[in-house]
Amino acid sequence: MVKATKLLAFVPTAGSLEIATDTCVYKRVIRKPGGEPKDVLKDAATDPSLPRTRSVRCYNCNHPEAAFFQAPTKGEQAMTLYFICCNPSCGHRWRD
Ligand SMILES: [Zn+2]
Repeated sequence: MVKATKLLAFVPTAGSLEIATDTCVYKRVIRKPGGEPKDVLKDAATDPSLPRTRSVRCYNCNHPEAAFFQAPTKGEQAMTLYFICCNPSCGHRWRD
């Protein structure tokens, strides 16, 4: 969780999940300017800086492993736990 906290420290204070994702993705877009949004999402799922868990299953493809991170949610004071499916052909994201 320490790594995730450092990663999210770059997010503007008003950040939502979308802003946090865009910040993370932005560096990859520079290296792969022709990448489709879906490819970027795959990169997020395989990001080695994100912790992984096998305690959840993807609601979309039933994959037994997901990366997760916490991010502030617009309109909520508490941090929200988000999951990203580790199935490279899925990349489904959901919140706890
Ligand atoms: Zn999935």
